[in-house]
Amino acid sequence: MKRIAGWLAAVVGALALMGVLAFQFMPAVQDRVFAAGARRQLARQSQLPTGDEAIRVVLCGTSSPLPRLQAAKACTLVVAGGRMFIVDIGPESTENLALWRVPTPQIAAVFLTHFHSDHIGELGELNMQGWAQGRTHPLDVYGPVGLAEVVAGFNTAYSLDRQYRHAHHNHGKGLLPLAAGVMIAHPADFVQPGDVPSGRTQIVYSAGGVVVTAIETDHRPVSPAFSYRFDYKGRSVVITGDTVFNAGLAGAAKGADVLVSEAQAHDLQNIMAREAEAVGQSTLASVLKDTSRYHINPVEAARLANQAGVRELVYTHIAPPLVFGFLKTPWLRGVSAERPNGVTIGRDGLLITVPLDGSAVRFDQLQG
Ligand SMILES: [Zn+2]
Ligand SMILES: [Zn+2]
Repeated sequence: MKRIAGWLAAVVGALALMGVLAFQFMPAVQDRVFAAGARRQLARQSQLPTGDEAIRVVLCGTSSPLPRLQAAKACTLVVAGGRMFIVDIGPESTENLALWRVPTPQIAAVFLTHFHSDHIGELGELNMQGWAQGRTHPLDVYGPVGLAEVVAGFNTAYSLDRQYRHAHHNHGKGLLPLAAGVMIAHPADFVQPGDVPSGRTQIVYSAGGVVVTAIETDHRPVSPAFSYRFDYKGRSVVITGDTVFNAGLAGAAKGADVLVSEAQAHDLQNIMAREAEAVGQSTLASVLKDTSRYHINPVEAARLANQAGVRELVYTHIAPPLVFGFLKTPWLRGVSAERPNGVTIGRDGLLITVPLDGSAVRFDQLQG
């Protein structure tokens, strides 16, 4: 028995060695191996279920502006009624969408909460990717007043790229039509810059049973700033964008199934500010200190969820970054007293399923 096992090991070893040598020295073998791998990758379908029995939310970016390798900046994907929507498109988030094979040409609209760079950094990239992969119409973008300037700026910045790609890939077959490569701004002007936030709302999108409501929120001095509420067949999801606690938002989020709230643990952020000062980074220290004045902390977000009577609270835009799992304990300090049934700290790829039949919200993870 032992002798047979020895022979077998020798044969397997010899075959493996032959395989390694063949790959090392024979280009045809290298190409065959590469082709097999490429086919496997290219045949991978999106892991995102789109069936019409639930609203689905995927966190495509959960980081605050402070860098974290495993987390893109602000981005939330909502799927309802067979339509895909993006709320904010921060740096690195389009990489996530590509890795999960999200079909970007099918994105129905983008909703921007405000124009901080960690929320809009990859608007141009998302637009170009969707167009280069086959979108045949301009991309609709919704947001507060100021949106026209932002969208025009991205359209201008990418105009040469549109021309290069059109000239290179059109092949006289109508591929990559220039007119489809731009974005169209749909600013909601019911809130004007400088208005004192009072939680006003306006429906900004309604199609196929999906209703999207912009909610005036408080991220001053950034003004206006919006949260968004998605309603579909009796279920609803609210995404806060950046905000402080405010009663208007709690009112507009009333009865939502899921609240995706930004959150910053101010006490930890202030410790970071002190340490930045101590190592001579005074500008960073000053900026870090300022952030507490226009962000909500995890306990306040829990109160907001309670006041609105939402079923599930999911944190995103996590600040400071939770680079070690054990940091969740100080980050969540005081939260369990507010939400004894638990909360969820968001991570990139978290898939939240809100069944239309009202059954329990489910949490899964998309893999890259
Ligand atoms: Zn902001
Ligand atoms: Zn932000």
